Amino acid sequence: MERKGRQRLLTIFSLSLFAWGYAQMCLAADPAPDAAAAPVPGHGVQTIQITRRGSQPSRQGAPEYFTGSVRIQSLFQAKDPSRTSGSSVTFEPGARTAWHTHLMGQTLIVIAGIGRVQRWGGPVEEIRSGDVVWIPAGVKHWHGASPTTGMTHISIVEQFEGKSADWMEKVSDAEYTAPVQTQLPAAPAAAQPTTAQRLMGDFAPKLRDLTDNVLFGDVWARPDLAPRDRSLVTISALIAMNRPDQLRSHLVRARDNGVTQAEVVEVITHLAFYAGWPSAVTAIAVAKDVFQKQ
Ligand code: MN
Repeated sequence: MERKGRQRLLTIFSLSLFAWGYAQMCLAADPAPDAAAAPVPGHGVQTIQITRRGSQPSRQGAPEYFTGSVRIQSLFQAKDPSRTSGSSVTFEPGARTAWHTHLMGQTLIVIAGIGRVQRWGGPVEEIRSGDVVWIPAGVKHWHGASPTTGMTHISIVEQFEGKSADWMEKVSDAEYTAPVQTQLPAAPAAAQPTTAQRLMGDFAPKLRDLTDNVLFGDVWARPDLAPRDRSLVTISALIAMNRPDQLRSHLVRARDNGVTQAEVVEVITHLAFYAGWPSAVTAIAVAKDVFQKQ
């Protein structure tokens, strides 16, 4: 008898707990009508903001902080509560920052060309398009272009009390021209001959060197056109001229530069109307071979 009463009490308790939980759930699922659109206190109405390409002015890097010609394009400012800002910085050949530190560190995303970065007391290291560099907070360093090739990187920094960098002395010519440590994996890079070395070797040394040093070492590395875009232009020309041999190696390069199979097929389909059906059909056969081999 006593046991039965206790059980009934427990059941009533469980049911009321369930009912309370259900009511809470309904409340949560049915917010005040304007809650979604209401501004977060102190932050205004939350909207997505698109800043259009080329709509922001660029400025020359201040001569007390940079050596040589440096163009800085602000991409985004820190917006409360975020303290992160980003800019695109283009260094002409030979140009570089002064020595400096970042209060919260810095991420560099190299988007074009060949550059250099050095930590105080460390080796000068080569950085290339596609590399991402992290500079920890408080580490004294500089970054810039190589002496012969320009470099553009996106810089992302966080501010601390409105400041992101502490600037120091300029990087001297002796420091800048110190021996470079390339970050490419030494063994395979050294062992693997370039396409020109393989094709021409010592049979046509001048054409081999022009291909490696001028065409790929200079023209392809220039920062005003991204490697991916250069690949698209080059394969388009080779498709139009019906040059399947060169197209094959340039499709491999295009793939390495981030051009996808779908994009190559689209380019060839598009070019069928401008370069002619036979050129497109030849190109498709080569592309199919390259992308199926991977
Ligand atoms: Mn820096």
